[in-house]
Amino acid sequence: MIDKATVDRIYAAADIVEVVSDFVSLRKKGVNYQACCPFHNEKTPSFVVSPTKGLYKCFGCGKGGNAVTFVMEHEGMSYVEALKYVAKKYGQPRKTQLYYPGDEDDEAPDEEVPDYPVNLFFTGEGYFKKITPLSLRMGGAQKLKEGDSIAREVETSNAAQLLFFTDKQQVYKADVSDFADTKASVLGDFIPAKLGFDDGEAATYMAVTRDYSGYLLFFFENGKAAKVDMKSYETKQKRKKLLAAYSDKSPCVAIFHIDADGEFLLRANNEKTLLLHSGALIPKTTKNTQGVQVMTLRKNRLERVVPYTAGMLENDHRFRSKSIPSAGASLKPEDKGEQLRL
Ligand SMILES: [Zn+2]
Repeated sequence: MIDKATVDRIYAAADIVEVVSDFVSLRKKGVNYQACCPFHNEKTPSFVVSPTKGLYKCFGCGKGGNAVTFVMEHEGMSYVEALKYVAKKYGQPRKTQLYYPGDEDDEAPDEEVPDYPVNLFFTGEGYFKKITPLSLRMGGAQKLKEGDSIAREVETSNAAQLLFFTDKQQVYKADVSDFADTKASVLGDFIPAKLGFDDGEAATYMAVTRDYSGYLLFFFENGKAAKVDMKSYETKQKRKKLLAAYSDKSPCVAIFHIDADGEFLLRANNEKTLLLHSGALIPKTTKNTQGVQVMTLRKNRLERVVPYTAGMLENDHRFRSKSIPSAGASLKPEDKGEQLRL
């Protein structure tokens, strides 16, 4: 009764570490996790779980398998029972896709999210608008609160997801489809109110994704930068809020969601300027990694980071460095290209 596509989906959604750690206390060891084997008696851990392979293996008794076989073995369930268990707990596939004879149809199937192109606007003060390209073409100035400005504009689709990063190192998630289509002439939704932020918490960055691909770059006042796999923000359960979403060791200066590596212009408060290629940073899966030193600052602090595009700097070779960290170079008036606005 469970077709192969559904089984594949359950396997793809199940996180072996989450599944096993419901029954066994796992400790991280390198890229894997280990524990004393739940299937035989032992004092030193020989039971290893590989999150990348989605498998477990005991080097003592030889037992091994995937998330579903683990539940079968450990809980004495049949294959179908274990599949259902994993699906229910971790996969959350749609009711309409998973049908078991005898199941009470007590839940309405998820409504299909209508998918169509939208333009998203997010302002410095935390206002959000979703506008269709048609409505946008009809014109009209963007209404904004006095002193506010558009921080990000993203062309995407109504089926995408939103991640709002805050100044308290948290992420609030929402679906684009949670918001109504609107028009340029209104202020839009105030995100901290709409998503129930903590008191005094402000949204600092909006990431938009359909598949959690790419990376997040975090630049900190102390000259460090962290590159975190976007997949680290994907959750099996539809969690609305993630804690410790990035490092709190130093104030965050800028956040970027990137699909491909590129150059970033870093400027310190003493006008020192550095061009950093994000390819030099090794991606991490730990969200709140403090990152690596990219700019040597001594008593100074990193103040501003923008994606670099040709024309921002004259003599841009002066600001590239063969290795990181680097102090960068002083930005002289003649280095400022026509398009540099900092
Ligand atoms: Zn064992």
